Amino acid sequence: MKLKGKAAIVTGASRGIGRAIAYRMALEGAKVLVNYHKSKDEAVQLVREIRSKGGYAVAFGADVRDRKSVREMVEVAKVNVGRPDIVVNNAGIARYTLFTDMPDEQWKEVMDTHVLGTYNVLKEVLPYMISEKKGCIINITSIWGICGAAMEVAYSTAKGAIIAMTKALAKELGPSGIRVNAIAPGIIDTDMLRSFTAQELEKMRNAIPVKRIGTPEDVAEVAVYLASDEACYLTGQVITVDGGYI
Ligand code: NAP
Repeated sequence: MKLKGKAAIVTGASRGIGRAIAYRMALEGAKVLVNYHKSKDEAVQLVREIRSKGGYAVAFGADVRDRKSVREMVEVAKVNVGRPDIVVNNAGIARYTLFTDMPDEQWKEVMDTHVLGTYNVLKEVLPYMISEKKGCIINITSIWGICGAAMEVAYSTAKGAIIAMTKALAKELGPSGIRVNAIAPGIIDTDMLRSFTAQELEKMRNAIPVKRIGTPEDVAEVAVYLASDEACYLTGQVITVDGGYI
């Protein structure tokens, strides 16, 4: 068990990639706070599944854009799973539209969920990690934060900011024993892809060198590695998990 004795917070763990990361981390021995925003039933179901496999998890609803509820989430984590050793900033949304057509509120919604959300969580957990002189942050970014995507300018901008935040924080927090890394998934089969047609998905699949769309488990595997002591000399990195796409 690679994460035995560790406490983890995974944001946006009710569905998709976050769900897979929370599940894998719990099965590797971590006690996990499963954060959700709107999908309470899914989060509770995940907690049940983890417990039925002998793991430990609790669900907690918090909008990562709201500092007060993030603070409560961290307090609940400390009491129920322990002082966080691992924090996965995964909560995210995608909005597909031309930059010139995007309403200002939508731009703000995307930026707030990804950038402000990550900021809020880190502001609340880092004081504990710094005082403990240990910790592992994993930020979920995207290949679009590296190379940009048409119709996803806000999303690409937010994910690019998360990459810069990851690298800067890794330098600032290295002396405090805290590692900060990012994972940049490619095209992963979650609800985020539901707005694409079967034809569009087939075109994407064909453009991926390994000829398949990724699974949330492909990403979770890398998250477990990054969180484990095996990755103790790894910080400030962006690991692309995209089947060779970019
Ligand atoms: P998903 O299936 O749509 O799940 C998104 C998760 O984020 C849900 O659990 C949702 O919670 C949560 N969330 C959204 N807004 C939130 C908020 N304000 N506060 C707290 N939680 C919030 O998406 P996914 O594909 O798993 O994406 C997970 C992460 O991977 C995102 O950061 C995304 O940008 C990134 N990513 C995805 C892909 C892909 O192809 N799927 C590729 C690259 C990067 P509720 O359902 O409870 O509201």
